[in-house]
Amino acid sequence: MCKIVSDKMSENKKEKIVRCPECKKVIDNLVNVESGSNSYIMTVDLNKYASYKEEEFDPDSSVNVWDCPECSAELFNNEEDALKFLLGAKVKKDGYFYKAIE
Ligand SMILES: [Zn+2]
Repeated sequence: MCKIVSDKMSENKKEKIVRCPECKKVIDNLVNVESGSNSYIMTVDLNKYASYKEEEFDPDSSVNVWDCPECSAELFNNEEDALKFLLGAKVKKDGYFYKAIE
């Protein structure tokens, strides 16, 4: 989860329309996929079933990418670019610009 992104988006109400450079659909969010391990607290409930409560996420830094919510294309591998893109700025990636559409 990216707290910086959600804070910035809420204070910037007049958002630009951005399109996924892969599928061209209008998107207003990105999906942050981060690898690591989740730790759960396992208990037994009243019906004697296992019950799990998420306790902690421990990122391992091998995958941390921002994907299109529509087509799942991997668009960015750093939060700075993902944030700029959602805010409508030009973001250079792989030699060309991802650009928001006004
Ligand atoms: Zn897409």
